[in-house]
Amino acid sequence: MRHIAIIGSGPAGYYTAEAAQKTFGDDVRIDVFDRLPVPYGLIRSGVAPDHQSIKGVSRRFEHVALSENVRFVGNVTIGSDVQIAELQRLYDAVVLATGAPHDRALGVPGEDLANVFGSAAFVGWYNGHPEFAGLAPDLSGRTAVVVGMGNVALDVARILAKTPEELRDSDIVTHAYDALKSSMLERIVVLGRRGPHQIMMTPRELGELGNLTRAAPHVDPRDLPDPGDDAMLEPGLRKAVRVLREFAAIPEHIRAEQPIALEFAFLNQPRALIGDGAVQAIEVEKTVLERGRAVGTGEIRRIPADLVISCIGYRSSPLPGVPFDERAGRFANDEGRILAGLYCVGWARRGPSGTIGTNRPDGFDVVEKIAADMASGALGARGKAGRDGFDALAQERELDVVTFQDWKKIDEAEAAAAREGAPREKFVDIAAMMKALG
Ligand SMILES: Cc1cc2nc3c(=O)[nH]c(=O)nc-3n(C[C@H](O)[C@H](O)[C@H](O)COP(=O)(O)OP(=O)(O)OC[C@H]3O[C@@H](n4cnc5c(N)ncnc54)[C@H](O)[C@@H]3O)c2cc1C
Repeated sequence: MRHIAIIGSGPAGYYTAEAAQKTFGDDVRIDVFDRLPVPYGLIRSGVAPDHQSIKGVSRRFEHVALSENVRFVGNVTIGSDVQIAELQRLYDAVVLATGAPHDRALGVPGEDLANVFGSAAFVGWYNGHPEFAGLAPDLSGRTAVVVGMGNVALDVARILAKTPEELRDSDIVTHAYDALKSSMLERIVVLGRRGPHQIMMTPRELGELGNLTRAAPHVDPRDLPDPGDDAMLEPGLRKAVRVLREFAAIPEHIRAEQPIALEFAFLNQPRALIGDGAVQAIEVEKTVLERGRAVGTGEIRRIPADLVISCIGYRSSPLPGVPFDERAGRFANDEGRILAGLYCVGWARRGPSGTIGTNRPDGFDVVEKIAADMASGALGARGKAGRDGFDALAQERELDVVTFQDWKKIDEAEAAAAREGAPREKFVDIAAMMKALG
């Protein structure tokens, strides 16, 4: 029997478990660890609460999780409850699928002012991640600035702009639902250093901004490149730019009917956040593109900002004893191999890019490498203690391990507590999750 420990129960973790099952069959036991008592990583705490169909992929992972040779080991933080070196002694292969949970800093003065957040924190707040449930953003101001031109920026802008009715069927947690209900925002600025041809937004998600009840998108036609230049874009981006052109063509009198303006501010880079205690404005510098790169022009202006959310990427969390690439913000790895018997997948391997499905080939690729390393003898002989060894360690340390069956109890309790029309009301702290287990 071979034993594999996967750290992280997000898409990369479960795709890896699925690949290992397919490759090794009954000859393997797989333990999927998570620091939370609930599985699925960003499917639960990142993917927007009003995009329920995307969260449906967790059914595929549930199928993997319920198979006999796979086990969920929740509420165990690797790096503090248990060390990587300890897992390496117990398992033939250890795969880090810990994602990239920390916000990349904007790197401008004033970033620590109140009401300035990174998207991990802000998205975590409305999605009920225990680490960020207490964030309490102040939504009583007029203007929010969302920095970034990717799908996360779109999610944040859309959630800020939606009416309570538009959010009713989502699984947004009630503390955020209530806070957004009394939001006074009238202007949401989506700000990016580069231009419409450099956005990282997908057409479907961008198009949603054109169908909101109380908000209308504003794109300045002067920001759009010559239409003939769209031909050289890859098809997805070309479609997204077409959506921006449609937004730019919305007549002013139609836009003016909507109480919230959703403005795209292309070719502007943040220089400083200004405020006295809390943020009041963002200072930006106009940029021009030079071979696709944004270069500052020295032209500075201030945009009033009562709330700033930067959606400019994420970094992984280093783990004791594991080589880390500080510049890239992920584990130092050679196509998924870190050290003998230690691998990484998903955002922990590649950094924060790609969709849920992008993590699937990663999982299969790393399992191929594990199989090759087993065959070459690089992982040593069989006979490691695996899950029995872990259970002994957990008992010795009195760890309160959460099983997949426990998670199903939490799942049921969340579904039972849902607002009318919503799929669930998430527990937003670990103690409440544990209490639901009786
Ligand atoms: C705001 C947002 C919205 C997104 N929306 C979409 C979308 O609509 N569609 C789409 O296809 N993709 C979307 N994505 C991308 C998608 O979520 C990622 O591609 C995917 O989740 C990355 O998977 P992962 O397993 O590498 O990391 P994660 O999903 O982050 O999973 C990592 C897991 O590791 C656990 N963990 C971390 N450290 C430890 C530790 N020390 N010990 C134990 N466990 C640990 C975490 O608790 C977590 O469960 C979105 C991403 C974000 C940030």
